[in-house]
Amino acid sequence: MSRHLGILGGGQLGRMLALSARELGLEVTIIDPGKAPPAAAVAAHIHSEYGDQEALERIAQSDALTFEFENVPEQATRILEQKLPVAPPPRALKVSQDRLVEKNQLNQLGIETAAFCEIQSEADVLLALNELGPVLLKTRTLGYDGKGQALVRDASAAAAAFASLKGAAAIAEGLVPFDRELSSVATRARNGELAFYDLTENHHKAGILRRSFAPAPNISKSLIAQAQDITEKLLVELDYVGTLAIEFFQVGQRLIVNEFAPRVHNSGHWTIEGAETSQFENHVRAVMGFPLGSTEHLGHSVMINLIGSIPPAQDVLAFRGAHLHDYSKDPRPGRKVGHITIRRDSEEEARAVAAELEELIRSHEKGIQPSSET
Ligand code: AMP
Repeated sequence: MSRHLGILGGGQLGRMLALSARELGLEVTIIDPGKAPPAAAVAAHIHSEYGDQEALERIAQSDALTFEFENVPEQATRILEQKLPVAPPPRALKVSQDRLVEKNQLNQLGIETAAFCEIQSEADVLLALNELGPVLLKTRTLGYDGKGQALVRDASAAAAAFASLKGAAAIAEGLVPFDRELSSVATRARNGELAFYDLTENHHKAGILRRSFAPAPNISKSLIAQAQDITEKLLVELDYVGTLAIEFFQVGQRLIVNEFAPRVHNSGHWTIEGAETSQFENHVRAVMGFPLGSTEHLGHSVMINLIGSIPPAQDVLAFRGAHLHDYSKDPRPGRKVGHITIRRDSEEEARAVAAELEELIRSHEKGIQPSSET
């Protein structure tokens, strides 16, 4: 059996993947252009750009290769797939890197997305406003956590919003009047076996995920069936291997896809403590060609992202059922530096602990505000 996993990218997702791989006895090597990325603490680190030929030759010595985020150059994965198994497939990476290609692919599969228009000029923004009402302008590539997005309410804001794109290719999306946001995380093995986690309810602020609840409360059979149907269609179409996440808008009893990520996902972090097998371990199992583990949930989980700073471990860990994950990143406003998962037997208990922890986080943030400005 294969013994060495290569990962393009060494952020917190790479670190949690590497930790899972190490538990399975695998060696792990990452490529990351950063000096000391989070995964370097738990994996061998090739310090270089992703396209560097010598770095690619070195990581090609692994038995299988994966990536931790969708902005690694597709070309690097195409080169590597000539030499070793690469999962998820480069095509999944390519489709997810461009919002226009992604939406067209989803619509071709009969999967509903927000209504959208391609934007190449200020006149296109005016046309989009006419057709869709208020729109969100989003850059086609490199946007994440709400970055590269502008809300355009009417024609008077069109010129400034188009200028803010600074020439980047974009789309305009109609606003979806959603009741809530949900996500599905699932893993597909090399032999086509599928494993679905429970749907997760996600709360965002300023485009950044703040909190996830799993299993999502008040989920009907119809929502589960729709989510699994959409996920399966996409996994099969892309001939996918590994963990994939899809972000949904729930409108009544209908699911509309916002976007998908060909990787492990922030809204699946609760699976480390809250599921029989985590999204990270199942991803590693799939990439290495191992059988998948059970995705059964254990109790009820609330995941809270730590943005910008981390309260003292001493205080967080005093809460029963709290699990702290510190990514060893330099604190910086708006940066995801860690998360806490609270797992308890009942949803009420998990929510009560989460509310108290959020109070602790707020008072910690207030305490450090003046120094974070400098
Ligand atoms: P994204 O970067 O596309 O994941 O968007 C970040 C967040 O902005 C989403 O999680 C939603 O809360 C919100 N959002 C994005 N697109 C839309 C849309 N078309 N309609 C309403 N809200 C949206």
